[in-house]
Amino acid sequence: MKTGGTADRHTVVAIDDEEGDLAVIDALLSDDYEVICTSSGEEAIRILEACPTAIVLCDQRMPGLTGDEVVSRLRVLYPDSVRVLVTGWAELDAIVRALNEGQIFAYLRKPFDAAALRATVARAVQHQQVRLENRALLEEVRRMRSLMDQVVRERTALLEEENRALKDLSLVDELTRLNNVRALRTGMKDDYERCVRLGRPVSLLMADVDHFKRVNDEHGHAAGDAVLKRVADVLRTTIRGADVVARYGGEEFVVLAPGSAEAGATVLAERLRGAVEAASAPNPGPAGGTLAVTISIGVAGAAPDEAPPLDEVLRRADEAMYQAKKAGRNRVVTWSDVKRVLATKPQSTFIARSPAE
Ligand SMILES: [Mg+2]
Repeated sequence: MKTGGTADRHTVVAIDDEEGDLAVIDALLSDDYEVICTSSGEEAIRILEACPTAIVLCDQRMPGLTGDEVVSRLRVLYPDSVRVLVTGWAELDAIVRALNEGQIFAYLRKPFDAAALRATVARAVQHQQVRLENRALLEEVRRMRSLMDQVVRERTALLEEENRALKDLSLVDELTRLNNVRALRTGMKDDYERCVRLGRPVSLLMADVDHFKRVNDEHGHAAGDAVLKRVADVLRTTIRGADVVARYGGEEFVVLAPGSAEAGATVLAERLRGAVEAASAPNPGPAGGTLAVTISIGVAGAAPDEAPPLDEVLRRADEAMYQAKKAGRNRVVTWSDVKRVLATKPQSTFIARSPAE
């Protein structure tokens, strides 16, 4: 599609029912512009199809479509054209209509003043060039922006993927900053097996926050989180140098005590239980104040002569912890206690824990 004219020459479409006036326009402009003359508005509209950014000089008084009607139609059909209305005297109404409906760039009076005609057309061309350049720049900016959006989207997706991968590799529980189950399954398992291999005693503590569901139900999950963090902090600061603590999941924590037989681990467990009982968690809920918190702990030791797999020790510590709950909570029960009672009073004291619980 031809836009404004050939090469450097812009197209001017002159519309006038008087041959003489068209001849004047052609004579004044054809040195600098591609001038197309027509005597009818309908014809001009057809011509603009081939050069939609043309400068249009349109006479007001014509048979058929009047000038303001022609520029109004061109404004709708070819909004990129620059329209100039040419009027005689006393045609103010037509000029106002052409300004409003045809959004004309300027109007000229007849008879033509050569300098004014040339100057108006030159300004119209300049206006057109600036407008087209602005549009090209705007399109470039839009293109760049969408390109950048695309890059940002791709980078964000990549980062999210990397974050997910890192999270999967993470050995740290996000809430409590303790080791997580993955750490328990790797590093802590290694520690446990090293003790077994070297014939050293090793014990495992399973701690569970008492009435945790009640905290969540009564004070909200933020309070539950505060309790878990507090317990985690107390456990972390109360264990001894070689001990390792992990969040086992939910409100359960595991402490591995390398070098400690069950008796020593029970002393540690009692110390941990007491420290948690002595501490309290700030209540972030509407009630404010502090939340009392206690834990029940099960202890299971692996003696050098009888060293089951870590999962079995976990199961025993869990069973002992369950019995601590049953016996009233906020207490320590050892696997030895469980075994002893099971041997002497199998029916009455302890009831086997079903998998559903
Ligand atoms: Mg006329």
